[in-house]
Amino acid sequence: MTEKSFNPIPSEPYFFKNSKRYPGQSLEYLALNNSSAFFTLKDRPHKEGDSMLKHIDFLLTAGDYMDIKHMCPICNQKPVKFLLFRNSCFLTLNLSCCNDPSCKEIIQNGSGDRLIAVKLRNLRQFVKKSNKKKAESIYRQLLFLRPSDGSYRVFEAITSKYRKKMEETNKSPKIKPKKSNNKKQLRCF
Ligand SMILES: [Zn+2]
Repeated sequence: MTEKSFNPIPSEPYFFKNSKRYPGQSLEYLALNNSSAFFTLKDRPHKEGDSMLKHIDFLLTAGDYMDIKHMCPICNQKPVKFLLFRNSCFLTLNLSCCNDPSCKEIIQNGSGDRLIAVKLRNLRQFVKKSNKKKAESIYRQLLFLRPSDGSYRVFEAITSKYRKKMEETNKSPKIKPKKSNNKKQLRCF
């Protein structure tokens, strides 16, 4: 990796430029409404080219840190991080939990059922079409997204936490002023 390969963090959704199949739509919309199409775009050559692929990679990375607002139904103290996947039929918002080990244990109840982390990339794990649709709907509910919310709102829900994290990482810690020292100096004669 050279310095030239550095890409700035996207600040808005990716709207298709050349796609006849998804006119006027965005990657963000597909990600949470038609995730199989979203992942197909990642895997197959497409006329949108490199800029689209880079944006998909960005969304997948940012999608590991989505701004989940829905609280764990068990402890009601921390946001949901996992969905319980019990044989396909019981995929619901109620069967979810935070990352607390005791909440995980309660929801699994010794069943050995799989817990799937609520990350954008994990939508791929729901193979059956009906499960995928259910999972997309649960993701949207966890992010407090309404059906009327457009691409910009979805972009914010998926990426805001990650972008904030990156901005903080890029800030130089050396610049931070030490205000507390001034107070101490004032008290010394
Ligand atoms: Zn919990």
